[in-house]
Amino acid sequence: MTGGKIHDEDISASSQWSESTAARFGRLDLDNSDGDGAWCPDIMSEPDGLKQYLQVDLRSLHFITLVGTQGRHADGMGNEFAQRYRISYSRDGSSWVGWHDRKGRQVIEGNKNAYDVVLKDLEPPIIARYVRFMPVTDHSMIVCMRVELYGCEWLDGLISYSLPDGHQMIYRGIDVYLNDSVYDGASAERLTKGLGQLTDGTWGLDDFLHSHFYGMWPGYDYVGWNNKSFPKGYVEMIFDFDHIRNFTSIKVHCNNMFTRGVSVFRQATCFFRSGSEWESPPVSFSPTVDRASQRARFVTVPLGDRTASTIKCRFHFADLWMLFSEVAFQSGSAVYNTSRSARKQGHPTNIPVDDPTHKVDDSNTRILIGCLVAIIAILMTIIVIIFWRQVWQKMLEKASRRILDDELTARLAFQTQNFSFHNSSLSSEGGSTMNSTYERIFPLCADYQEPSRFVRKLAEFADSMESLDNETTGHRSCKRLAGGPDPPHYAEADIISLQESSDQCSITVNMFDSSMKEFPRHKLSFKEKLGEGQFGEVHLCEAEDMQDFLDADLSEENTESPLLVAVKTLREDANKNARNDFLKEIRIMSCLRDPNIVRLLAVCVDTDPLCMITEYMENGDLNQFLHKLSLPDETTPGYEAGGETTVNYSKLMDMAVQIASGMKYLSSLNFVHRDLATRNCLVGRNCTIKIADFGMSRNLYRGDYYRIQGRAVLPIRWMSWESILLGKFTMASDVWAFGVTLWEILTLCKLQPYAHLSDEQVIENTGEFFRDKGKQVYLTKPSCCPDSVYNELMLSCWRRNAKQRPSFEEIHLCLMESLQKL
Ligand code: AMP
Repeated sequence: MTGGKIHDEDISASSQWSESTAARFGRLDLDNSDGDGAWCPDIMSEPDGLKQYLQVDLRSLHFITLVGTQGRHADGMGNEFAQRYRISYSRDGSSWVGWHDRKGRQVIEGNKNAYDVVLKDLEPPIIARYVRFMPVTDHSMIVCMRVELYGCEWLDGLISYSLPDGHQMIYRGIDVYLNDSVYDGASAERLTKGLGQLTDGTWGLDDFLHSHFYGMWPGYDYVGWNNKSFPKGYVEMIFDFDHIRNFTSIKVHCNNMFTRGVSVFRQATCFFRSGSEWESPPVSFSPTVDRASQRARFVTVPLGDRTASTIKCRFHFADLWMLFSEVAFQSGSAVYNTSRSARKQGHPTNIPVDDPTHKVDDSNTRILIGCLVAIIAILMTIIVIIFWRQVWQKMLEKASRRILDDELTARLAFQTQNFSFHNSSLSSEGGSTMNSTYERIFPLCADYQEPSRFVRKLAEFADSMESLDNETTGHRSCKRLAGGPDPPHYAEADIISLQESSDQCSITVNMFDSSMKEFPRHKLSFKEKLGEGQFGEVHLCEAEDMQDFLDADLSEENTESPLLVAVKTLREDANKNARNDFLKEIRIMSCLRDPNIVRLLAVCVDTDPLCMITEYMENGDLNQFLHKLSLPDETTPGYEAGGETTVNYSKLMDMAVQIASGMKYLSSLNFVHRDLATRNCLVGRNCTIKIADFGMSRNLYRGDYYRIQGRAVLPIRWMSWESILLGKFTMASDVWAFGVTLWEILTLCKLQPYAHLSDEQVIENTGEFFRDKGKQVYLTKPSCCPDSVYNELMLSCWRRNAKQRPSFEEIHLCLMESLQKL
């Protein structure tokens, strides 16, 4: 697939998510520039995945021993992969067989992330022309695959064999099962229309009680029959070929443990058929009965260059049991040295039965060995590359961290001046740094994290430190202050159950020193409970002598003492992750200074419980605030407020302007909020709005978040399509969320966005945004919203192309203008 040997027209699929994720893009290791980097079927609606498949037509029969799978990475844009899949195959394109391993398991463990190749040894191997990869999921989801097949052409031309199934032997109390356990055809009185153990490339051991395969039953490698069940004294096998061939010989791998009543056959008689009749005379051959060696061996039956498309051979018992583990043919259409030499000799019937040189010269054997050696070489190369990459990445990561830490110190100093906050450490020891670590988990799926990307981003980040005007996804100053070189900011979108994070799915980054004054706990007196979040309660408190802790701009406004403040406390039983996230929120908030961002005033972190003291916003969160209000005349924008429980359109627009202003400030820092919504904005005196929630704290709004497989919790109704599908959070995705927040404001938070859609339907709608076929559903225009605001502003926030969405500066300007016109 990767090398292009298989043509596009030979790769097909049950369905495709879009033209850019068609079957032809399902080639391992190719991040196709003209496609979206993998084959992705339509949303998997069938949990067992049997309806969706990627099919490869190899044009002729192949012996396939290994397959590889990979997800859609698309240079970091993709994060879809098949965690499990099945394989089915066909030799004729009409009858299909589901592959299963030697223990009968059909489902194969696939990928754990979108970029690593996962190889699967096919034991038993497949002989097929068509192969289907069928992703398996537990629930409806988008899955993408890239695949590869490893093996070689099946030159034998044998498409099926038919024989009586093997028997059970009881040897000294041990049950020895000699059936053809991997036969893939029909099984009735005889096994018909399939291939199995006799063509799986594995030759049995001398002692048939032992197997090449760990954990399999005694006799596993052999198909064997008991003389007593065959009154005529022979076992008849019929072999069907793809076309008429010129046969030189048949090689049968036989067990010869004569001390246990097992022996090589006494005589083989083969009949040939090219049309409907068996031709005469048959060819007979009697190998020398060997009572000296119990070695298992290939016995070559010369076939005298007879032409046929079907061969029937009768193998006569020489002892109580006859055990075969492999059958191979040498025929004219497959050019083998041995067959040629046999033909030249002209004595096909006199070739010694057990001539060791025949084994050495066996061309089928050579091909098989060649295949195996090639596969081992490929595997070794892959292992070496993976190992080398890991070592190299570790070195890079270390180096990048060192560079970043150094640069960070300088940057931090610069930021500190800018924000004029005091650099007194959280640590009780003056000036010492608090070098704690925390685990970061990325959204959508924890597996989204990719070490190589992380290292690359580190490097990119280091490069871009000089220019803060970069308009990519980044966070700059606060991002670094918050704790790491790549998005350090947790919004609620990230994860809810941090406790469940697996090692594989998380990375540890250094926390950076952050500064916030420690407030003496005894100077706080509890007044009332304001609310409750994920990590604890928020209390209204009186704080004595708070003025000493206020920045100049705040101390002018807040002269009263004691001062009313909001104190957010971390629950005492919070685990390490919650604690780290709480500290992280402190670090983020400690560097934000804007009239429309909730200000962190001081902290109590020297002892437990950890507390952050923020300015008190009398009117609580914007969602609840608006929910209680109504519009006196919903059809006319610009009317005046009619009473305490009413709010007018211009007031709503004023709120939107304030949020846009706060977001403009965050965007000037290249800081991505990730969870902008009315529930995360607080309302103060005179309807002052401030953006809050830079960490993870929610309880009341559980329903606004979508849980993926019980782990990640995402505010999908506020998220852009690329955040949901690609895990990409940028300023442009914050703009999308702003559009939804504006819609909430103008509908007075009476309904959830897309209230008529279930969570799954919201995700499907996201897919429509991605496909861009005009089937996507937009939030409808709120009744008080003028057409111009809806069409020019709100809808522009939800443009598919993130680059075409307005910036917060533009949004702020536009809202200001429309407010002034009122
Ligand atoms: P949080 O844990 O930040 O989501 O806060 C939970 C609830 O406490 C919010 O929904 C608000 O109602 C209330 N709250 C949080 N911070 C403040 C504040 N600074 N002033 C007033 N109420 C607040």
